Amino acid sequence: MRPALLDPLFAPLTSLAGIGPKMMKPFGRLLGREAPRVIDLLFHMPSGLVDRRARPTIAEAAPDTDVTIEVRVDGHQAPPPGRRAPHRTYVSDASGDLQVVHFNIERARIERLLPEGETRWLCGRITLYDGMRQMTHPDRILDAAGLAKLSPVETVYPLVEGLAAGHVRRAMEAALARVPEMPEEIPPDLLGAGDWPSFRDALIRVHQPQTPADAQPTGRAWTRLAFDELYAHQVTLALVRARQVKAGGRATRSPGDLAQKIRAALPFQLTGAQETALAAIRGDMEADTRMLRLLQGDVGSGKTVVALLAAAGAIEAGRQAALMAPTEILARQHLETIAPLAAAAGIEVALLTGREKGRTRAAILDGLQEGRIGLVVGTHALIQDDVVFADLAFAVVDEQHRFGVEQRLTFSRKGQAVDMLLMTATPIPRTLVLTLFGDMDSSELREKPPGRLPVDTRSVSLERLGEVVAAVGRALAQGAQCYWICPLVEETDTSDLAAATERADDLRAYFGDAVELVHGRLTGAEKDAAMARFASGQARILVATTVVEVGVNVPNATIMVIEHAERFGLAQLHQLRGRVGRGDKPSTCLLLFRTPLSEIAKSRLAILRETEDGFRIAEEDLRLRGEGDVLGTRQSGFPGFKIARMDVHGELVPQARDAAAATIAADPELAGETTKGLRLHMYLHERDAAMRLLSAG
Ligand code: ADP
Ligand code: MG
Repeated sequence: MRPALLDPLFAPLTSLAGIGPKMMKPFGRLLGREAPRVIDLLFHMPSGLVDRRARPTIAEAAPDTDVTIEVRVDGHQAPPPGRRAPHRTYVSDASGDLQVVHFNIERARIERLLPEGETRWLCGRITLYDGMRQMTHPDRILDAAGLAKLSPVETVYPLVEGLAAGHVRRAMEAALARVPEMPEEIPPDLLGAGDWPSFRDALIRVHQPQTPADAQPTGRAWTRLAFDELYAHQVTLALVRARQVKAGGRATRSPGDLAQKIRAALPFQLTGAQETALAAIRGDMEADTRMLRLLQGDVGSGKTVVALLAAAGAIEAGRQAALMAPTEILARQHLETIAPLAAAAGIEVALLTGREKGRTRAAILDGLQEGRIGLVVGTHALIQDDVVFADLAFAVVDEQHRFGVEQRLTFSRKGQAVDMLLMTATPIPRTLVLTLFGDMDSSELREKPPGRLPVDTRSVSLERLGEVVAAVGRALAQGAQCYWICPLVEETDTSDLAAATERADDLRAYFGDAVELVHGRLTGAEKDAAMARFASGQARILVATTVVEVGVNVPNATIMVIEHAERFGLAQLHQLRGRVGRGDKPSTCLLLFRTPLSEIAKSRLAILRETEDGFRIAEEDLRLRGEGDVLGTRQSGFPGFKIARMDVHGELVPQARDAAAATIAADPELAGETTKGLRLHMYLHERDAAMRLLSAG
């Protein structure tokens, strides 16, 4: 259980003085959480800084830079009643004069802020307007008392509707006052080497900086907090690993007859990369340690076949295998690929998703429990409590980032010393693998199956939509099929859903009922029906929100149109593009964007035009955007980091990992006095699940 010392930090934000229930909503938006807590605010890092230390005279102040200037108030000029002109206040110092400009402000209020004849301090930026110096809406107007309290450096947080900078500042001040002194958890040598402040000091420095370095990711304060976070994660990994090693592994060996039959039924030869990956997986399974391996490969690189061949080994050994996918569509599609191959080898296969109910479901559960079913493909339905295996040996998680650590753990507990294969079509750069999984083994399918044609990728402004529709029409007339993707940021985002529906309607005006629409709000049966009509060729255009992002395989589809490509992450665009270029005909991907494009969006589209190598794209993505997008954190329970930035703090990962390993080796139960600080920090970073492993033994 979380120590009581931390309770004030996990209390709702409304427990802070000055934060009423009305503020919950805007703070919730800022912090990305419906009922934000004090800790969420404290771990919300600033997005920028304003340096208030520059104190030039009016004449010295460089235009468009942040300054704090001392002025005397000379007089006011209010706009004539009823006119929308601004209120002007004339101020000056010995060096010159300046107009302070306010729109929509009450005269009484501004005269109170800037009383004629008095001295005041203005924080803001001076601009030159018609040769006149002016400051429009100063950030701050201070009297001597206010100036005394002014922070030399101010933090900036991204603002959301209903929340002013002052609200955040005051809430932060109250939150910081609650942070207790805590016993140190960072090993002394690291602490000394980094010359890091204590946890409490670090938080205060980041949010109430005295110098710019205090609040920068590269500064000592932020770096220390990042290390805390990385360390808590590495300790979690070390604890899980220690439990797994203790649980031991089991060797699964087979002569390979079943796998041979499957190979004989394949219409192709495995690529070299597939053979290498398969050999590594089989090696892991035959060893009497437990396997935890990542199989990375672009969409279409042929991971499923590798997983199936490895599964055949487990089944031949008289044990079972299971493949879990994040969506029903994907699970079904895996089944379709696998079923004929499994049949050729005489393996009984079942599908288990939320839609198998009643007698069907009961029969599958029986088959699994009795061991009759060798291989089951399914969704989250596989990890429900009443799913019992006779002897699960091999568990495969497809699109693993869509699942949380706990779900993977539950899956692995469905058998004894289960060997785990995590598959991902979103390649993860090596530094990130280390960060997220520790020393997990990894196999990569960089080589694509032979015969794949490159996808002709172009970016086109949305203004040319008419031409795009006409081009699609010509391709359809030649027998092609087309995906048309509209962005859906969140499943609940109704305006985006409306956009997809509207686009489908537009296209129906041209192409009649050749157009199908799939989105997240449809039931499973509706989605399947729409997908089936597209897969069978009855429908020629599939308008979709990103539900087609992973997995679906329609080789005849050779056109991919992505609307608002600027709103997608690089990895996501690459995955979407992977839906085409699967057959023997040349394919096209059109990235429709709305102008003006940001610099980042421009670079992203350029990279896509340049390469189809998912590993390179992942690396570029990391470089462009930091880690968030690579991981698709918004989609899933991937362990997201709030404080650590991979580009800045990535090199701390090996240190955090080594420190974690040493700590766990010395005190596996974290029971000693020296790990008191660490225990607190684990809860602080919400590693409660890992802490439960300790008491569970
Ligand atoms: P992934 O799961 O990595 O996205 P799949 O396993 O679904 O890729 O494979 C994509 C397609 O390529 C499938 O139709 C599969 O049968 C085919 N395929 C797999 N390996 C090869 C290969 N070595 N040569 C030719 N085609 C292959
Ligand atoms: Mg796949």
